[in-house]
Amino acid sequence: MTSDSDQQNLRPPPHVLIFPMPVQGHLNSMLNLSHLFCLAEFDVTFIISDFSHRRLLQHTTVASTFARYPGFQFRTFPDGLPEDHPRSGHRAMEFMSSVKNVTVPLFKEMMIQENFLASATRRPVTCFLADGLLSFAADFCEENGLPLICFRTATTSYFWALFRFPQLLQAQEIPFQGKSMDKLIESIPAMEGFLRKRDLPSFYRVDDLNDPVLKEVIAVTMLIKRAQVAIFNTCEELEGQIVAEIRKHVPRVFSIGPIHEQVKYRLTEKKAESSIITASLWEEDRSCINWLDMQAPKSVIYVSFGSLALVTRDQVLELLHGLLDSSHRFLWVMRPDSITGSDGEDPVPAELKEHVKGKGLLVEWAPQENVLNHPAVGGFLTHSGWNSTLESIAAGVPMVCWPYFADQTTNSRFVSEVWKIGLDIKDTCDRKTIEKAIRDLMEVRKDEFIERAENLAKLVKMTVSEGGSSYNNLDGLIQYIKSLVIWLCIANGINWY
Ligand code: UDP
Repeated sequence: MTSDSDQQNLRPPPHVLIFPMPVQGHLNSMLNLSHLFCLAEFDVTFIISDFSHRRLLQHTTVASTFARYPGFQFRTFPDGLPEDHPRSGHRAMEFMSSVKNVTVPLFKEMMIQENFLASATRRPVTCFLADGLLSFAADFCEENGLPLICFRTATTSYFWALFRFPQLLQAQEIPFQGKSMDKLIESIPAMEGFLRKRDLPSFYRVDDLNDPVLKEVIAVTMLIKRAQVAIFNTCEELEGQIVAEIRKHVPRVFSIGPIHEQVKYRLTEKKAESSIITASLWEEDRSCINWLDMQAPKSVIYVSFGSLALVTRDQVLELLHGLLDSSHRFLWVMRPDSITGSDGEDPVPAELKEHVKGKGLLVEWAPQENVLNHPAVGGFLTHSGWNSTLESIAAGVPMVCWPYFADQTTNSRFVSEVWKIGLDIKDTCDRKTIEKAIRDLMEVRKDEFIERAENLAKLVKMTVSEGGSSYNNLDGLIQYIKSLVIWLCIANGINWY
């Protein structure tokens, strides 16, 4: 006869199938979430494109970190784009159709052929944790009786602003065709009073609401109503009121972020030997840390526009002049594939190179989390991608926001008007504005920004610590997934232990 505790040990763990869009920001948070599931001793299958997998193996320690967890496996597929496709800028949206047309059919074939990935040591998939941008996920789960957990990797506020599309339309707040951009939006609860047309998700900036990208973005947003669970990489302290609004529409909503901080806390708590994952698709230039070591505390502004944003050569020049005129030292990540309009020319003219020397350092890709947590860094000039914003918040670093697209136009408004830990200079790019914003952040209003940023950093660290809301929500999510194993076994008439 087996005791209860033996039965616990005999019970194969839940098996979570995770499918992110194969871009940097989505991979980061979903690999970190996989790490959290591995720490909970779940089996995890992670779907990834050949392209991203190759680059992860080349530039990160992901392989050795996950080698510690026998329940973890990658499954690779083509992303459907030619090898030389830029996979960035506005062309990043082409992932939506290429993944749908090429990756998804191959993925479905594998699932059927391999009996939902059951093996001698692994139960078939317990639930499908899908990137919220995957439009096939709801049909696939309903057809196969699989619970759907929808993970939106961007801000909850952005998601909520898209979810309110019908009400915005009814109130005639869209389409706004570029007019009265500073007018406040009234039909998005919890955002009245500070969100302007200018701050809506960039996909709303169209003249015709039949724009195919907008239509696709709204369609995938609404699919959340068919999910059993929604996960957001946020916390009650940052977006509590908005999460509460979404709870009215989805049965279970778990805000478990910042996920990268949650991983750090849980690794320490469990005294686990594995380290946090850096999921870079590019080689990190660590020489910038040595350079930062030589700078005074909080004297450097870190400049990065993430993995997808494109910058024209003219904008590079304005930004560079603004930085040089501010007299503050800077570390700038200039991805070679991110500059347009330079016709192969060096984006930094020779005469400016001399000025940059000694004042600034240009690198192609940086170990961003280490940079933001370096004592020399006092500010971040950012495109307001959600991962970068969360990393900056957790490190207590104030921001100058220069958003590019998608959720970034909304995130930057939250930074400046809700959390008040920075300045939003969206829709401008002239050297005077940039110089002034940097001076305000790094000198004139330095103390107030640093005080608020450091207080917010403390709050978000507490939320992932024992007893904090994100900590408890992650436990709730883990318990929910465990309960699915029991329900699936009962439904199929088999012993669940
Ligand atoms: N990142 C990095 N090194 C760099 C620039 C960015 O590691 O030099 C990472 C950054 O830490 C973040 C991610 O790339 O986790 C970018 O994600 P985000 O959501 O901020 O922007 P996206 O690239 O999706 O626009």
